[in-house]
Amino acid sequence: MRENVRTMDSASAGQNRFQSHFAGTRLRLKDFPDLAGMYSVKVDLKDDEPVSSQTAPDEMPPLGFAKAQFHDTYIISQTSDSIVIIDQHAAHERIVMENFKAGLAQENSVATQMLLIPEIVELSVSEKMRILENADNFEKLGLKVEDFGSKAVIVREVPALIAGADTKKLIKDLASEINEWGNAFSLTEKLHKICATMACHGSVRAGRKLNIEEMNRLLRDMEKTPHSGQCNHGRPTYVELKIKDIEKLFDRR
Ligand SMILES: [Zn+2]
Repeated sequence: MRENVRTMDSASAGQNRFQSHFAGTRLRLKDFPDLAGMYSVKVDLKDDEPVSSQTAPDEMPPLGFAKAQFHDTYIISQTSDSIVIIDQHAAHERIVMENFKAGLAQENSVATQMLLIPEIVELSVSEKMRILENADNFEKLGLKVEDFGSKAVIVREVPALIAGADTKKLIKDLASEINEWGNAFSLTEKLHKICATMACHGSVRAGRKLNIEEMNRLLRDMEKTPHSGQCNHGRPTYVELKIKDIEKLFDRR
């Protein structure tokens, strides 16, 4: 009995914490006039996630359990009373971004990863200047960049959060990003912009196949991450379609 009460309490506390981070995007019928697109969903009929069907509603996590991925870009999960569609890249990008910000908040706690083979990145003279001018900012975030000859920089360490990202492309993107800054930004704003660009490069891409376990890990990470209902650009990371709304579509009530 005691056990039960505690489980329910912690489940609802978790839910409240999650909901207080953001108001999730509820898809209303009027927002969804054309259901034709849904027919292209390839649903995996075998149940890869037996846990989900045996879980009592109280233990259902807010974003439910992943059921399938479609177009290698969206995850479909099921909660006790809805279907949730998650944009895997937008969601992951937000998680990486929030991890960066948390690391920044505690000085020098952004974990880095040494590159076995340092990456030499060829740049134009102006790109190189912009990158080196911001080398200190990059270093705060775990990206170690140094001068390397007349038209290149060398990257020796990258943030562990984005290990595996395409370093050359990241440096090029940072250079063009900095070009758009002007002088109006504070240091914090600059750091956050660098975080956002790095998060984009380090996040799981649209178009990557995920297995059920990876999808569920992403959902659980979203539930723990502040602001995970919106991507770094303010777009929703998921939409929720309530079963009662789906039933209306089929004239079931
Ligand atoms: Zn992105």
